[in-house]
Amino acid sequence: MNAEALLELQLVDTAIDQLRYRMGRLPEVIAADAADAAVVAWKQRSAMLHATIVELEAAIAVSEKESAAISVKRDRLDKQLKTVISPREAEALMHEIATLSAQRSVLDDGELEAMEAVAAGEAELSAHHDGHDDVHDDAAAARALGDQVVAVAMAEVQQLSEQRDTLRAKLEHSVLERYDGMRAQFNGVAVAKLSGLQCGGCHLDMSRGEIDGLKRDQSGDVPECPNCGRLLVL
Ligand SMILES: [Zn+2]
Repeated sequence: MNAEALLELQLVDTAIDQLRYRMGRLPEVIAADAADAAVVAWKQRSAMLHATIVELEAAIAVSEKESAAISVKRDRLDKQLKTVISPREAEALMHEIATLSAQRSVLDDGELEAMEAVAAGEAELSAHHDGHDDVHDDAAAARALGDQVVAVAMAEVQQLSEQRDTLRAKLEHSVLERYDGMRAQFNGVAVAKLSGLQCGGCHLDMSRGEIDGLKRDQSGDVPECPNCGRLLVL
């Protein structure tokens, strides 16, 4: 049993686990994700502003059509008014013309308001588009930086993986099997070093007798902590 290799394997595996855990939490990676989110938000705002303008323009078109129809009707009534003799009929026509004029006036006011809103929306959209390069450049720069730090971490993982392979080659298959099983069971830490009377895994003391028993064992098996079951390097 190569106790040193086993302990070293544990250290290397722990280092790999920590690197992998940290990789997604690196500030550069978080910044790159945030910059990507900013691009998405920029596009959504762009689409929203554009949709508002399209909606307003459609409303203006409808309003113009209605206004034109009212004008045609009013012109017709104006002509009719010149030909009527009956005062009552004339009064009714004038009332109808006034109603149409009022309708027309409401439509015109609404149209003017919508046109102002279109102008404001277009100005806003234009200002928003001015930010296009900034938001995209920022995202590209942040992603490049994020990729860079991830590549460095990956290279480190790669190097540690090679160390791990070398260490595993030194260890017996049965030991590796127990080690791998216990790593899964003990949240990654399968091997503990004995320091004094204490197991480095569970930090519980063993009796002198238990330790002597483990040290005397000639079976060649890796000893286990009687308290937590971790592989124990004496
Ligand atoms: Zn223990």
